Amino acid sequence: MGRAKRISWILLAGALAVIACDRDKDAAPAQNTSVSASAPASEPLKLPPDDGPPPSVDGDRAMQYVKDIVKFGPRPLGSANHKKVEEYISSHLKGDQVEDDVFTADTPEGKFPVHNIIAKYPGTKEGIIILASHYDTNYPMRKTSYVGANDGASSSGLLLELANHLRGKQREGYSVWLAWDDAEEAMKPDGSGGLPNEMPFSEDSLYGITHLAEKWQADGTLKKVKAFILTDMIGDSDLNVDRDTNSTPWLEDVVYEAAKRLGYQSHFFGRQQEVSDDHLPFVKRGVPSADLIDFTYGYNLAYWHTTEDTIDKLSPRSLQIVGGVVLETLRILDKMDSLPAK
Ligand code: ZN
Repeated sequence: MGRAKRISWILLAGALAVIACDRDKDAAPAQNTSVSASAPASEPLKLPPDDGPPPSVDGDRAMQYVKDIVKFGPRPLGSANHKKVEEYISSHLKGDQVEDDVFTADTPEGKFPVHNIIAKYPGTKEGIIILASHYDTNYPMRKTSYVGANDGASSSGLLLELANHLRGKQREGYSVWLAWDDAEEAMKPDGSGGLPNEMPFSEDSLYGITHLAEKWQADGTLKKVKAFILTDMIGDSDLNVDRDTNSTPWLEDVVYEAAKRLGYQSHFFGRQQEVSDDHLPFVKRGVPSADLIDFTYGYNLAYWHTTEDTIDKLSPRSLQIVGGVVLETLRILDKMDSLPAK
C-alpha cells in the first residue's frame, strides 16, 4: 500500500510538524476514529433479501498463494523477482480470459516496465465489477529483505483464490474482472513507513492502475464499470478493515452489509481513515469504489513498509473473512435492481 498516510504523520505530529505540514493539508481527520459503519448513504439502498448459502473461501489455499508470492523475495519494478511473480500469477490463470496491460512507466528512478494482469469472468448482467490488488513491492526497499507479505502479497493471493470461485461458472450477475495491478508503490519515498521524505505520493505512485483507468476511459470500458473494489493489507491476523473516507459511501455500506450477513462485522469499519490507494484513479473518474484495507499493522504501524511485513503476521482466517465478504458483496450487488451511478 502506498499511503500511510497521514495517520502515522498525525501520530508523530509533535516531533515532525515542520516536515509534515505540507502533507497535513490534505490529511483526513485521521484520528477521528469514531465508528461510521452505520452512516447511511444519501439515498436508502434497496438491498436484496439475505438468502442462499453464504459464500466460503478457502483461507488455507489463499494463504498458500500468499506464501508462494512472498517466497520470491522482494519484487520491486524491474527486478527478476518481479518477473517471476508476474509469471506466477499468469500461470494460475491459464484458460481464463486474460488482458495483459504492459507499458513503460516514466518514474523518478527512470523508465520501468509495468504489467497489469486482468482476468475476466463474464456474467449475464450488463456491467463490470472490478476487484483489484497491487502485487509489487516498493522500490526504495529493494535492497532489504522486505517482501510485503501483507502489503501486496496478501490481497494478490486472495485474488488468485477468488479466481478459483469465478472460473468455469456461469455468473448470474455482473461480469467480474480481477486486476493484479502493478507499480502501486512509490519509487522515491514519501516519508512514510520510516523512510526519508523525497517525493509526494501523489506524484510518484499508482502507475499501473492509473494507466488502466486512462486506457479504459479512452476506449469506453470505464462507462461499463459499476464498481471498483480494492483489497490491500487484508491478511493481518488482527483484522480490522477500515472504512475509507475516499471510498464511495453506498458501496462501503454494501460491504458492511455483506460482513454483517456473514457475522464478520466486528472486523469491519470500527475506525475510519482517509486512504490514498489504487482506487483513487477510479474515484476521480466517478466510478463507485471501495478500498478494503486494514491500516493498523503492528504497534504504530511498525510492520508497514518495514522488513517486519512478513508471513508470520498473517492468518488464513483473515483471508477467508475478507474473501467471503467480497463474494457476498458481489452477490448483493448482482441482486440489486440497479446500482447508484456514484
Ligand atoms: Zn505499500
